[in-house]
Amino acid sequence: MTKIYNFSAGPAVLPKEVLAQARDEMMDWHDSGMSIMEMSHRGKEFMGIAAEAEADLRELLAIPANYKVLFLQGGAHSQFSMIPLNLLRNKTTADYINTGIWSQKAIEEAKRYCHVHVAASSADKNFTYAPTQNQWQLNPDAAYVHYTSNETIGGVEIFSTPETGNVPLVADMSSHILSRPIDVSRYGIIYAGAQKNIGPAGLTIVIVREDLIGETLPGTPTMFDYRIHADNDSMYNTPPTFAIYIAGLVFKWLKAEGGLAAMEQLNVLKSALLYDFLDNSDFYNNPIAIENRSRMNIPFTLKDAALDAQFLKQAQHNGLLQLKGHKLLGGMRASVYNAMPLQGVQTLIEFMREFELAQA
Ligand SMILES: *Cc1c(COP(=O)(O)O)cnc(C)c1O
Repeated sequence: MTKIYNFSAGPAVLPKEVLAQARDEMMDWHDSGMSIMEMSHRGKEFMGIAAEAEADLRELLAIPANYKVLFLQGGAHSQFSMIPLNLLRNKTTADYINTGIWSQKAIEEAKRYCHVHVAASSADKNFTYAPTQNQWQLNPDAAYVHYTSNETIGGVEIFSTPETGNVPLVADMSSHILSRPIDVSRYGIIYAGAQKNIGPAGLTIVIVREDLIGETLPGTPTMFDYRIHADNDSMYNTPPTFAIYIAGLVFKWLKAEGGLAAMEQLNVLKSALLYDFLDNSDFYNNPIAIENRSRMNIPFTLKDAALDAQFLKQAQHNGLLQLKGHKLLGGMRASVYNAMPLQGVQTLIEFMREFELAQA
C-alpha cells in the first residue's frame, strides 16, 4: 500500500503514535472500564487527564505561573470577540496588524466592540510579507495590540516577538503554536484553535496573563468571560473531553521528541527543503518574502493553473493528500505541521520533480 502523507491545513495530520495509543485506549482507558468519551468530566480519571495535559503544556512552553491556561471551545473565531470583550475595559480603541485573511477576520469582529486602528498592513503587496515592527504605527492609548503570528492561508509567519511596551500583546497562534519555543511572558494573550498543530477540532487553547482577567464589557455573555473559565479550571461547562485527551497525548509526544527546540530544528529543515526546491524551479512558485515564509503553511502555484487538477489527482494517487490551496487563493498549499515527518516532505518534493519533468 502507498504510504499516505496528509498536508491538510486543518484539521490536520496527527502523530501516528498518538493515534495508535488512542486506538489502544479507546474501549477501556487504563482499566477504568470506560472510554474517555463516556467519562464524567468531574470524575477523578478525567480530572487527572486534564491536569496532566495542562502541566505538560506549561512545561513545553515554559508558561509562567502568572498565566492561566484555558481549554475552551468555539475556535479561534470566538476569541476574535472574547478578546475585545475582556480586554477593552474603559478604552475604546485597539491596534490590529493586518497581514492577511485571518487578521482581517479578527479585525472585522473587533469592529463590533471598538474602534479598530490598523497599525500596519501588508495589503499593498497582496499580503505577501509582514510589516516590520518599525513600520507599525502603534497607538499608546490602545487597549491591546493584536496580530496573527502565522497566516495559515497566505503562508506568512512573523518570527520576532513585537515590542508593545505596557500595551498587552495578543497573538493568534492557531497554526504554529508549539512549532518552536516562544517567550510567553512577552504576551498578554496567546490563543490557538487545536486543529492545526495540537489535536482534534473542538478545543481552543487560551494562555492569558492573570491581570487581564476579570473585567468585561457590559452584556458580555457568561461563556465569553475569561474569569468564569479561569475560576472553574475550564470546567464551568462540559469541556471537549476527548479533544483534551488527544491534545494531552500530543504534548507527551512532543516531550518525547525532545520538546519545542527539537521541533523547531525539524521544522526549519522540512520547510527549507521545500522552499529551496520551489526557488530552484521555474515551474513552481511561492510569492512570500523570504524573511516571512511560514514554516508551517507553504502555498505554491504551478506555472500553468490549467495543470492544477491533474497535479492534485496524481498527488493523491501517490498518497499525497489535501494539497489543494485555500479557495480564496487557489493554487496549492502544503501544510507541514509538527506531525508531518521529514519523509513526507521528501516524498512530496520527489513527486513534484517528477510531475514537472513529465510536462516538459
Ligand atoms: C484556522 C484558523 C482560525 C480559525 O479557527 P476556528 O477554530 O475555525 O475558529 C483562526 N486563525 C488562524 C490563524 C487559523 O489558522
